[in-house]
Amino acid sequence: MSTMTADTVVIGGGHHGLVAAAVLADAGWDVCLLESADMVGGAIRSAELFPGYVADMFSAFYPLSAASPVLHALELEHHGLRWTHAPSVLAHPPRPDGGPAAVLHRDRKATAAGLAAHDSRDGDAWLRLCEEWDRIGDPVLRSMFSAFPPVRGPVQLLRRAGTADALRLARFLLLPARRMGEELFASEAARLLLAGNAVHADAPPDAPGSGIFGWLLAMVGQQHGFPVPVGGSGELAAALARRATSAGVQILTGQHVEGIDVRGGRARGVRTATGLTVTARKAVIADVSAPILFEQLLPSDALPARLRADLRRFAWDTAVVKVNWALDGPIPWQAPDVAGAGTVHIGADERGLAQWSADIESRTLPRSPFMLFGQMTTADPTRSPTGTESAWAYTHLPRGVSDEDAAGELAERVDHVVESFAPGFRSRVLHRLVQTPADLESANPNLLHGAVNGGTAQLFQQLVFRPVTGLGRAETVVEGLYLGSASAHPGGGVHGLCGWLAARAALGEQGKLGTLRRRVTSAALELVYRDSPSAR
Ligand SMILES: Cc1cc2nc3c(=O)[nH]c(=O)nc-3n(C[C@H](O)[C@H](O)[C@H](O)COP(=O)(O)OP(=O)(O)OC[C@H]3O[C@@H](n4cnc5c(N)ncnc54)[C@H](O)[C@@H]3O)c2cc1C
Repeated sequence: MSTMTADTVVIGGGHHGLVAAAVLADAGWDVCLLESADMVGGAIRSAELFPGYVADMFSAFYPLSAASPVLHALELEHHGLRWTHAPSVLAHPPRPDGGPAAVLHRDRKATAAGLAAHDSRDGDAWLRLCEEWDRIGDPVLRSMFSAFPPVRGPVQLLRRAGTADALRLARFLLLPARRMGEELFASEAARLLLAGNAVHADAPPDAPGSGIFGWLLAMVGQQHGFPVPVGGSGELAAALARRATSAGVQILTGQHVEGIDVRGGRARGVRTATGLTVTARKAVIADVSAPILFEQLLPSDALPARLRADLRRFAWDTAVVKVNWALDGPIPWQAPDVAGAGTVHIGADERGLAQWSADIESRTLPRSPFMLFGQMTTADPTRSPTGTESAWAYTHLPRGVSDEDAAGELAERVDHVVESFAPGFRSRVLHRLVQTPADLESANPNLLHGAVNGGTAQLFQQLVFRPVTGLGRAETVVEGLYLGSASAHPGGGVHGLCGWLAARAALGEQGKLGTLRRRVTSAALELVYRDSPSAR
């Protein structure tokens, strides 16, 4: 048994934990970060899959990092991080017949010209959508990226939209991706850029509000690209760790936190599996999923009955299966323009996406899985020898399914679909590694059953409904305890916002108006969780 004391303990060294730790250390706090695994980074890690081939084991493309004001402020470039880009951002070939793909470029005119080749009306339609982004993209991102309730972003949004357009904008933001595409574009290609990106972001194409996910990811991708760290995703985690340690954070790996000590309604510290106890003078920040935090790490009497009941309704995102390949040559895509894209969406055209989505919701293993495919050497030539490709694809299992047999079968179908879009692909495979949901979870307990986003990103679990009905903020019912993982608002993806918001909440409660802030938060939480659980 050993003991330590720090101002704050961060549980988990995913990127949000590292961001929170760095922000608090910058503010002069004494920070100790405890990570279960043998290295920090969580779902940002790369490894040599095959001699000379670097594979990203989890996340790979970082548009949200590039757009994130939080990561920008950390100046990771001064800590060894270098970004690079594929020649084009993303391609979506609709069918394996070699027909032209929809391609997203970093230059809007290039994207528009490509879409105009599909239908002459869609070039201008795309440029109009980009102008809309110029007008309101900033306040939309600001609204999503600030603590709930956001104030400045929506006010700016209303001002820019103007009264007459505000209602129309509200309608636009609620559209399902498929409907948004139909209202805006004449060609399937342009519609696929919206729908494919919506599904990429975990929003079914027919779900209300999914259009905004597709629009946002497409516009962020066009503005910032889908960059990758030179040398592998692990370089991003390493730069974050260097940034945190240079600010004074003490990082301890191999320390699995087993419990949080709560006394007098306040988080006092944590205990790890190795017998280490760390007392927290000011705050405990949890970069773990909401179910791990509330159901495993906290004593059950620390939670109101209503919150415990709400947690039973927490919805994980569907499990993924990831296949990684070391290839002895470039991928022989049939469709032109796919070879230069870092990210490729394949396996479904417009109708296919609707079918795929229905399969996912009806426990049916998709015959033609829609997948995200990464051409990593195309994006970063250091990933494998010249003239070869380090590649991966991941796709989702049906909701509620994560067993090994289904995962193995789905992985086979992934190879089959890629072969249909790129005949000869299989003959180029030197090495293949499948990561099933069980593999993902054993590498990182946050990826329960292979979930990638810390809980579904669908509308019913966003904003004040994330992770469960509440305030949509990092503060929890336990004083001094903050949720700073992707389970918190604004959700999955590598943007650092959840960690930053948790750190800001902790700093706020220790600041001049801290006592008042905490009283207001406690009163609001009391209102949300009082009374006994109901059927709703
Ligand atoms: C296969 C896959 C592909 C993805 N692709 C992308 C992508 O291309 N782009 C993108 O932006 N996002 C992507 N994502 C999503 C993104 O990676 C995650 O949303 C993000 O990394 C979550 O960060 P986090 O800090 O919340 O948690 P994590 O990265 O999961 O980190 C949590 C950390 O906490 C540790 N931990 C857990 N429990 C404990 C405990 N009890 N004690 C101590 N430590 C603990 C874990 O070991 C882990 O290191 C992908 C995710 C996956 C799984």
